[in-house]
Amino acid sequence: MRTRFAPSPTGPLHLGHAYSALRAHDLAKDAGGTFVLRIEDIDQGRSRKEWEALIHEDLCWLGLSWETPVLRQSERRDAYRAALDSLWQRGLLYVCTCNRRDVLSAASAPNEGEPLVGPDGIVYPGTCRSRPGACAALPDGVALRLNMSSALKEFGTERPEPWEPTQGNGRFRAFQETGSGPNGETGIIHASCGHFLNNIGDVVLARRDFGTSYHLSVVVDDAFQDITHVVRGEDLFDATLIHVLLQHLLGLEAPTYLHHGLVRDESGNRLAKRHDSMAISSYREAGATPADIRGLVGL
Ligand code: GLU
Repeated sequence: MRTRFAPSPTGPLHLGHAYSALRAHDLAKDAGGTFVLRIEDIDQGRSRKEWEALIHEDLCWLGLSWETPVLRQSERRDAYRAALDSLWQRGLLYVCTCNRRDVLSAASAPNEGEPLVGPDGIVYPGTCRSRPGACAALPDGVALRLNMSSALKEFGTERPEPWEPTQGNGRFRAFQETGSGPNGETGIIHASCGHFLNNIGDVVLARRDFGTSYHLSVVVDDAFQDITHVVRGEDLFDATLIHVLLQHLLGLEAPTYLHHGLVRDESGNRLAKRHDSMAISSYREAGATPADIRGLVGL
């Protein structure tokens, strides 16, 4: 068993991160497996070395240990580009020139109803999908979107167990612990093609500014690092669907996914990195012990 914790160094780790990291760590260690730390720093504009150092410090203090050397996504651009190239050559990607405002105005057109919000914001209305002029070579410095409809067609022709999205209630090895998934599921999750098309849509796989995206990098790296079990919050449920689809398109093995409930603040809001009061470092400075943190997150 190989599990991982994959934070972005864009702020301090909070209790929610501690919970996820501890769950992934304990799962591997209890099974005699390996725990991996990966630094997801593709967004070089927001990532900071200081936050990365604090991540190491906080996790060490919590008593976690991980495989070294630690993989940093900023050093993996060639691998991401190779994956994009494979999708591009099969006509599964297209160049998108829309900015946020374009997406909002197209999605809010009078006959469109309320814009649907997916895992990455408003579901893309498809403005650039049929733009002519795709060139043979993978373009650089542009945003690339996955053509979800074509991707699902490719997926449907050789559908592996245990994933059956074309049945309307397909299933794959992803588990939800809380029963609060999009359809209230506990246990194995189901997803239909309609959900992919209407609630997720043509997601961005390469951003113009950093040539890749969270979804693409995470899939390439989970496979590269032989991750067998991904432990993550239930807020990433739709992201998992995208990831399993990408694994299939890229010929990568799908890990098992475990989605856990989120740690919330007193008002029931999920923690964000800006909740500095919930930062592990703040608890540390206030004299808390690692056991206190485990207790606070219910472990
Ligand atoms: N970098 C992501 C985060 O900070 C990783 C989550 C995941 O892929 O499980 O939320």
